[in-house]
Amino acid sequence: MDNTHFDLAIVGTGSGNSLVTPNFDGQRIAIIESGTFGGTCLNVGCIPTKMYVYAAEVANTVRSAARYGIDASLDGVRWRDIRDRIFTRIDPISEAGKRYRQAGPNTTAFLGHAEFTAPRTLSISTGEVITADRIVLATGARPAVPAQIAGSGVPFHTSDTIMRIDALPRHLIIVGGGYIAAEFAHVFSAFGVPVTIINRSTQLVRAADSEISHRFTELAGRRWRLRLGCEVRSARERDGELALGLTDGSEVTGDCLLVATGRIPNSDRLNLAAGGVEVLPDGRIKADPYGRTTAEGVWTLGDVSSPHQLKHVANAEARCVAHNLAHPDRLHAFDERFVPSAVFTDPQLASVGLTEDQAKAQGLAYRAVVQHYGDTAYGWAMEDTTGICKLVADPRTGLLLGAHLMGYQASNLIQPLVQAISFGQTVADVARLQYWIHPALMEVVENALLKFRFDEQDAVFAPGEL
Ligand code: FAD
Repeated sequence: MDNTHFDLAIVGTGSGNSLVTPNFDGQRIAIIESGTFGGTCLNVGCIPTKMYVYAAEVANTVRSAARYGIDASLDGVRWRDIRDRIFTRIDPISEAGKRYRQAGPNTTAFLGHAEFTAPRTLSISTGEVITADRIVLATGARPAVPAQIAGSGVPFHTSDTIMRIDALPRHLIIVGGGYIAAEFAHVFSAFGVPVTIINRSTQLVRAADSEISHRFTELAGRRWRLRLGCEVRSARERDGELALGLTDGSEVTGDCLLVATGRIPNSDRLNLAAGGVEVLPDGRIKADPYGRTTAEGVWTLGDVSSPHQLKHVANAEARCVAHNLAHPDRLHAFDERFVPSAVFTDPQLASVGLTEDQAKAQGLAYRAVVQHYGDTAYGWAMEDTTGICKLVADPRTGLLLGAHLMGYQASNLIQPLVQAISFGQTVADVARLQYWIHPALMEVVENALLKFRFDEQDAVFAPGEL
């Protein structure tokens, strides 16, 4: 038997690792990883960030306890203990995953960087060259660092490194205003660190519905120092103090710099041309809706090819590609119609479907409603003054077009709306054909749905009902 030939080679062990299903029992699988086994979500992404976010929420709960008549004080934040609790849980999972694949009955793990040397031929930095009937590229994405910072010589962190620092900074500067910036700003400021955000756009979380992004930016400005509408022009360091010169002529100083200016797909280090794999102008691997690249037998999934860069999308694509590899005659397509997302900042943000601006730009007939958390019983309990649930719906069909939440547990509250939009349930049915538990916070969603009132020509809803 040729030991260098495999039935399947998987490059990347994030979502790629889950491709090894019983469908491939008896087939020889190579799994190749150049970084930490388990990929971004487990090691440097979703999971550790949310473990920090939970601790941040505990700190903020203590801080705000007096509001509810509970006297409590935050005596301290033990950063190292928080960090070690997180990584003593995560690191063994990564290590066990690696050992499992190394010892697997039909898997061979290669711990090195893979790149194509010819169609369906991979050279690995550990010295091996392997061939495979089918190859899946699941190589993810990495932080993008602006040239002004990368070339300046100043020390900086990205999401890959900031979570493992040894001590809390005295003053954290974050460059970027997307979800990663917003989550880390929340975590560090809840832990008592002053945070300054420098962002090119005048809005934070710009991808959100503009009403949400405006409200969020306004709230963020009360908590963090915001330097919006400007970019970093220069960066220098002296005696552990960083000074960033901005395009508006001002300067920002701090002792720790986090660069969170987006992520770039890991397609550029695979020598894809040698494998016959084409890349889109934005750097993502070109793929059809089934996950097939332009090269025969080469498939892709996750952040390296998806426009979404979300773990639940990468997971869904992995399930799809696993099916398609096993059933070439019955291919499943990726379903990207309604991809929800959440930002675990403070307050949380969650979204699915079209924003109001998108509905408007597409010339759709739509109605938008906003329900405040503070106008529900649970909102009173929480003394909430900022949470909102905004819905956009089509008055002709009664179907939801989009849902956008900002507030406590937005990432959970949105799920019935994700379900409604995914299964084509009308606003009226979702609002009326089920019980909503009283007085749960979910009444925010129920009341938002009940706010729609369409006139008599709008056939879907009975007049006066909705
Ligand atoms: P990855 O998990 O990145 O796996 C790719 C693997 O391929 C890596 O291990 C890499 O080392 C390896 N690799 C790359 N090139 C090569 C090569 N040439 N040879 C061998 N190996 C290679 N998403 C959410 O849905 N919810 C969240 O809350 C969330 N939070 C996040 C927070 C942060 C800070 C970050 C950075 C991301 C977050 N994400 C979140 C995004 C999510 O982590 C990614 O969408 C997801 O992990 C992508 O999975 P993947 O399998 O495509 O890639």
